[in-house]
Amino acid sequence: MQSKSWLKAGLFAALATAAFAATPARAQGSLVMYCGVQEEWCRAMSNAFEKETGIKVAMTRKSAGEIYAQLKAESSNPRGDIWWGGTGDPHLQAAEEGLTQEYESPKNKELHPWALDQWKAAKHRSVGIYAGALGFGFNTEQIKAKGIPEPKCWADLLNAKLKDDVQVADPNSSGTAYNLLATVVQLMGEDKGFEYLKALHKNISQYTKSGAAPAKAASLGETAVGIVFIHDAVVFAVQGDPIKPVAPCEGTGYEIGSMSIVKGARNLDNAKKFYDWALTPAAQALAAPAKSYQVPSNKASPVPAQSPKMDQMKLINYDFVKYGSSAERNRLLAKWDKEVKALPK
Ligand code: PLP
Repeated sequence: MQSKSWLKAGLFAALATAAFAATPARAQGSLVMYCGVQEEWCRAMSNAFEKETGIKVAMTRKSAGEIYAQLKAESSNPRGDIWWGGTGDPHLQAAEEGLTQEYESPKNKELHPWALDQWKAAKHRSVGIYAGALGFGFNTEQIKAKGIPEPKCWADLLNAKLKDDVQVADPNSSGTAYNLLATVVQLMGEDKGFEYLKALHKNISQYTKSGAAPAKAASLGETAVGIVFIHDAVVFAVQGDPIKPVAPCEGTGYEIGSMSIVKGARNLDNAKKFYDWALTPAAQALAAPAKSYQVPSNKASPVPAQSPKMDQMKLINYDFVKYGSSAERNRLLAKWDKEVKALPK
């Protein structure tokens, strides 16, 4: 991910349309899917795949850190087949720990380089399915009522007038929040980054379980600011809620949402079928109607018009190998628990 031209290419990718067989195929066994994006998109994917192939999908939606923990807990008796969606860091940790398995899809050649970078970093045990940048969304009415300038930067979230009025998820459960932790450390350096997170803690009303929940809370005015992937705030802005998505002025991190096949999958052939299908433009086009506005990984996939323009943002050169490594992720999470979450307010 050295240049942003990859994103530009994505933004101008040819429009493709989803075309699915009108009649369901005959029953072809089953697939256990652990899904790491929003429920609506998870459901659209599992339903469409089921309809197209006749393979019965048992889908569960969880946050990325939770799916990683589940795979680890089930490793001696795996129950899942495919882990689709969620931030790339826990996918990389699972790959390193042998919880997922190698696969080379014939669709790989159709993918953007950033999606294949994830595949290479994971030693072929994970692949990129979408990209999205981190930021926040603020409730315009709440900010006005507080009489403070509209927040544009990470630093603005430390304003004392935002006390108990910022929400973000817990990085142990949420891929979004781990992405924030790793982003702040890379953007500011570890010492200054932790100082920032400790100062931010004073303004946090609650650490939610799911990464996108603070966007909904901000759209409803339950919090003034929600730190989320920018596309998660866009969902509410496009439906007319008083929320403004922000790409922070200092620069920001991003995710390569990923997919992996579970090691020891009982329905391995079906997992591979799903994997190949999920990389097609037709399957990736299911995102936007399900209100998910990430940049898709197949070069021929349509980029939703609502997608945040990542090529116009100041993105850091996120080190996925380092921050997706088992040692680094465990170390940073333990440090955050001890030095940030445990702090009195
Ligand atoms: N929702 C969307 C739309 C996402 O793109 C992602 C990350 O891939 C998430 C949610 C992550 O969820 P969580 O932070 O709960 O793991």
